[in-house]
Amino acid sequence: MLNKAGIIRITGIVQGVGFRPFVFSLAEKMGLAGEVYNDGQGVVIHAEGARVEEFVAALPMEAPELARIDALEVQAVEPMGYEAFTIAESRGEQGRFALISPDVATCPRCLEELFDSQDPRYGYPFINCTNCGPRFTIIKDIPYDRKFTTMAGFAMCKLCGDEYHDPANRRFHAQPIACWVCGPQVQLWDNRGNIFPGEQGDANPVEEAQRLLARGLILAIKGLGGYHLACDALNEDAVAALRERKIREDKPFAVMMKDISQVRDFCLVGVEEEELLLSNKRPIVLLQKKQEGRQLASQVAPGNDFLGVMLPYTPLHHLLLRDGGALVVTSGNISSEPIVYVDEEVVERLGGIADYFLVHNREIFRRVDDSVTRALQGGEYLLRRSRGYVPDPIRVKWDLGKVLACGGEQKNVFALTRGNQVFMSHHIGDLENLETLQSFEEGIQHFQRLFNTRAEAIVYDLHPEYLSTKWALEQELPKVGVQHHQAHIAGVMAEYGLEEPVIGVAFDGTGYGLDGNLWGGEFFLGDYRGLERVAHLKYLPLPGGGAAIKEPWRMGCMYLEAALGRDFRLLDLPFLQKVNLRNWDLLRQAVDKGINAPLTSSMGRLFDGVAAILGLRAKVNYEGQGAVELEQLAVRAAGKDFQKELLFDIIEDKGLWVIDYQRLICRLAEGLQAGVDRAALALEFHRQVALLIKEVAGRCRQVSGVNKVALSGGVFQNLLLLEAALELLKAEGFEVFIHRQVPTNDGGIALGQALLAKAKL
Ligand code: ZN
Ligand code: ZN
Ligand code: FE
Repeated sequence: MLNKAGIIRITGIVQGVGFRPFVFSLAEKMGLAGEVYNDGQGVVIHAEGARVEEFVAALPMEAPELARIDALEVQAVEPMGYEAFTIAESRGEQGRFALISPDVATCPRCLEELFDSQDPRYGYPFINCTNCGPRFTIIKDIPYDRKFTTMAGFAMCKLCGDEYHDPANRRFHAQPIACWVCGPQVQLWDNRGNIFPGEQGDANPVEEAQRLLARGLILAIKGLGGYHLACDALNEDAVAALRERKIREDKPFAVMMKDISQVRDFCLVGVEEEELLLSNKRPIVLLQKKQEGRQLASQVAPGNDFLGVMLPYTPLHHLLLRDGGALVVTSGNISSEPIVYVDEEVVERLGGIADYFLVHNREIFRRVDDSVTRALQGGEYLLRRSRGYVPDPIRVKWDLGKVLACGGEQKNVFALTRGNQVFMSHHIGDLENLETLQSFEEGIQHFQRLFNTRAEAIVYDLHPEYLSTKWALEQELPKVGVQHHQAHIAGVMAEYGLEEPVIGVAFDGTGYGLDGNLWGGEFFLGDYRGLERVAHLKYLPLPGGGAAIKEPWRMGCMYLEAALGRDFRLLDLPFLQKVNLRNWDLLRQAVDKGINAPLTSSMGRLFDGVAAILGLRAKVNYEGQGAVELEQLAVRAAGKDFQKELLFDIIEDKGLWVIDYQRLICRLAEGLQAGVDRAALALEFHRQVALLIKEVAGRCRQVSGVNKVALSGGVFQNLLLLEAALELLKAEGFEVFIHRQVPTNDGGIALGQALLAKAKL
């Protein structure tokens, strides 16, 4: 019994999301007296009156949309004799340990006002409220208060100020509140950075931008976390020009469309996909293209059956797309550089690509890329976890202390832990240049400030050449290195709180192995305290090192030679007709001498090699392109019968199972020579890899009794493989775990690193 009075302490995302006004109105409705205020941990409520218990029960049920309650503690007290209910001044170090909301897409009520010609914010590109708008991208410091955001320079007008201070208003303490009178404004610039008045004189810059896009021009548009490059996705010439200027030969572009019904014109949208598209995180969702009917420009996602689509997430996007249509929206950057987010740089860096710039004067403090996701078997399967998701922490079962996990090199994401919370960073990008490294360092400083946590130890990948590793080794903190694929598997354990041993399958492109070789086709057995490598793909030299990743024909030859000997070149394969065998001979000589030929057990390279042998890709323009096309080719054959006999051979060697692909490669070569449909061969290859997983998992279970399987690594972005493996494993009674909260690629390994650090430090 609460004796009619209680103190309620709530933690979680309860600041900056309209929680106090919600508490205030709920208390008033129930005739309670008392007060509510923010403190360093979250929200504290003193409530007294006849209906206190009912009030406590209603708090989690009716909490505002963006709120997330992690804990709610109630302490019964003697009534203090409050006369009314009030929102009181914050106490203590407000927000010191509170959570920060990710950026949130424009909410339905703000949208209504945006398009209501009677509303004072009609057509205002920065309309927002406590339920929506920028958060993480504009916060410079904590507590979350306007003066610590990039809105600090905009003094509120009377309208905004009144709403901001009125507890009954849905903009009460909405820190980025703004309007035409007092807030940020949009401008249109030409590609020298001069204000472009438009052809209609002083036209509305947004309308002028719409006209320019309709004419097929390329615009750099300032979004929430950085600049996009945009053009009309239905205009072949415009998309081709963007591709040419961005030097992005065939990596798919994402598209933004006005609403779901527009999306359905071009793509298949299931229930789960619709939910993802409409979520207030507004990720890019991978959808299957419709083969018939209206088509986007062919250059949007050439040779790809999937299209990345998102719905508008800022008022500016809604205004630009108000008349429908589809816009290509791709990161505003040049090849591998980070996305541009600073106005002073945009003309210089993107002037060679964009014809015009749609800019505004609300500064982006943190650069954040769009997130990319897809639906898979009743859940979400992320490819990139960034805007809309970050900095919401992943909650784990263990107290991980205060650790900084540096992540990997590609698709870098670092993580900072605070007890059982793991704050995964936004997508930093490939750590291959100084700009990205700088962004990594700034991100770490920022996270430590925002979450009021100083890392007490550092965990890094063992690869000596990773910039994140080199950086980690320079820091004056206790540090520990962890193996890349063990981190992949530990990431799955972290998501599900698995203490017990699992069979871990880590398939990816590359990771530095404990023996100094490049691993990537690995099986493990154990728990996070000790994860033993039990099986791997047979080692093979990577001819020319990194060049072999960009030129899968090299792997194709290497596998054919491994399977058929040096006479493979006599085979009558379309692939070999295109290979310059003299180049191969030179390369082979280098391999013999051990020049630039590290050994690899990578499953990603096997996919590349097979894609090359099947004649898909001799060279790739982006990482994993061969595997992507191999999957899509195989999907066309899906449904046909497949070989049930395992064509991989598992050979015991020094206590390890070594997986030989010789017979499988022979079978593919024979099939090609016999004129078997390439799609059927591609499908058979996928099925064989799935069968391999089942076989090795079965052997592991036999020796250990372990029945749980964790799948991780970039290769499992291949859904055809993943779904086949899930089906086979489940049919054998295995309990299978896959990533749901972080990507299966290297964007997720910082989570596993953080868990492994617990065991090692
Ligand atoms: Zn709103
Ligand atoms: Zn205003
Ligand atoms: Fe990896």
